[in-house]
Amino acid sequence: MTDTPLTEAEEMLRDLSARLTDPVPPECLLCYVFRMLEHGCRGLRWARRYRDLRAPQATALVRRLRQVGAGCDCEIFWNGYVLHDAHLVRTIELDQDGRAHPGDLDYPEVMPPCQGARAGSTRPCALWRRLGRYR
Ligand SMILES: [Zn+2]
Ligand SMILES: [Zn+2]
Repeated sequence: MTDTPLTEAEEMLRDLSARLTDPVPPECLLCYVFRMLEHGCRGLRWARRYRDLRAPQATALVRRLRQVGAGCDCEIFWNGYVLHDAHLVRTIELDQDGRAHPGDLDYPEVMPPCQGARAGSTRPCALWRRLGRYR
């Protein structure tokens, strides 16, 4: 096939979407995967992409994630890691009379900026803690 304007436009779109789903150094693994989940969860696709682009030596990453109960990207945040309480926001619940009461802790609408990871590392930055552990 020859290079018509349409295929050029398609290539530009492909480039653009690749860049939109690239880790932005020094973004850490978890901040990256969390950001990418808005594009949906399909297995450990985002974790693998991070590893391939930023930490190709981390060959045990998938096994380590499965060990914390993460068989897919979103399960990293159900079973493995959670934002430190300091970054969570208190929700407000209204009772039957419309009075506000403090509710559960929830993720903020805008995530705090990643505190960064070294190139080649898959360690979460200081925003995150292992579920069930405070250190
Ligand atoms: Zn998932
Ligand atoms: Zn981070």
